[in-house]
Amino acid sequence: MSKVLKNAVIGGGVAGLTISRKLKDVTLIEENEYNIYQPSWLYTSLYGKVEKKKRIRDIYIGNLIREKVKEIDLGERRIITDKNEYAYERVIICTGALPNTALIDGLKEVIDEFGSFSISYNEALKLNSKIKSMKKGTIIIGITYPIYKFPPCAVEFSLLLEEILRKKGVRKNFKIKFVSPFLGAYPAKIMDEVLSPIMREKGIEIISPFNVDKIDNNKREIYSLEGEKLEYDFAYLVPPFSGTNILKECINEDGFINTDKEKLNIKGYDDAFALGDVTSIPSAKSGATAYLEAKALLRRLNGENTVYDGRTNCPVYVGDKKATFVVSNYHHEALRIYPKRSYYIARRFLDIFYYYLMRHNWIIDNYLERFKI
Ligand SMILES: Cc1cc2nc3c(=O)[nH]c(=O)nc-3n(C[C@H](O)[C@H](O)[C@H](O)COP(=O)(O)OP(=O)(O)OC[C@H]3O[C@@H](n4cnc5c(N)ncnc54)[C@H](O)[C@@H]3O)c2cc1C
Repeated sequence: MSKVLKNAVIGGGVAGLTISRKLKDVTLIEENEYNIYQPSWLYTSLYGKVEKKKRIRDIYIGNLIREKVKEIDLGERRIITDKNEYAYERVIICTGALPNTALIDGLKEVIDEFGSFSISYNEALKLNSKIKSMKKGTIIIGITYPIYKFPPCAVEFSLLLEEILRKKGVRKNFKIKFVSPFLGAYPAKIMDEVLSPIMREKGIEIISPFNVDKIDNNKREIYSLEGEKLEYDFAYLVPPFSGTNILKECINEDGFINTDKEKLNIKGYDDAFALGDVTSIPSAKSGATAYLEAKALLRRLNGENTVYDGRTNCPVYVGDKKATFVVSNYHHEALRIYPKRSYYIARRFLDIFYYYLMRHNWIIDNYLERFKI
């Protein structure tokens, strides 16, 4: 076994990089060379844009081990990778969430054919070529399972696709239907009251609650647990997501790590923590959440008596150069924020300057203060 790592951070995504850049005596273990700005997959699928990514070495100068973690033994404080074994004093797991298409019969075939805006760059490219080839028909967009990455992404995709078809002058050739397992298109009631009317105004039919049971991609039919059947020509569906398989204990049935929602420690351990999409925390799986959790844990590890309050801040493009934000925490329902042009500019700013902002966190922190709950 190699030397003992004082603070081992697993995963160099939003959460892992945010905490690794600021914590002392850190070793980051990440399997990939690049950090990927996942929202760019949405723009690949809709507009054919290239994936936005940056070499981790260009953002983070501390200790970095390029290995894939296979297992973590929390009791023995051991990390086993594809190449080595390490002991640690403290571990912070930030490995994100992965798609789990196997949970729904027929979903894999749908994604194999139509691609996806929420899984990978290649799937987003596939989706983009589908969009370019569409002439007419019924498009079904939606959420197949209540646990998924980035709650607004399906609503954003539907409104931006509607805008593309309208501006191309072919909107009348398509019916757009949106399926959701929630009461409305969006999980948070107050923001659903903002977003669903905009979707309806643009002729998007919302079918909810619609819990996808199975899909027959040959017959082009989706069946719900509620007993409905919908026919489609094109299906752009967000799959269920699951957590990690590197822990044998402390995970729930979907593989998310059982994490204290305020202190962020893995339940039952005071030397092991989890941040970001991999946690069981009842907060949106978003980069903003991952960032705010990492900042809260950093303050705690630096001796401040503070906890994570569940704050999140999800931007939502609604088309026609407008956007809104979903802002909430554990103690307050989402704020009612109507779309504006200035929010669109803020969102574009984030998309364009993401890697600059990663290195100059004070700009993000000042911006988040504007929406303080
Ligand atoms: C289409 C789309 C649009 C989105 N839009 C937004 C948005 O506008 N705003 C927003 O806030 N969020 C958005 N998100 C969500 C956001 O990208 C994620 O919530 C965020 O990246 C989660 O950060 P994380 O650090 O938990 O995980 P990730 O960023 O996924 O990072 C996990 C890291 O862990 C590494 N890893 C995994 N397993 C191992 C292992 N075994 N060994 C070593 N390394 C490992 C991975 O390689 C990866 O680098 C969007 C997501 C998608 C898909």
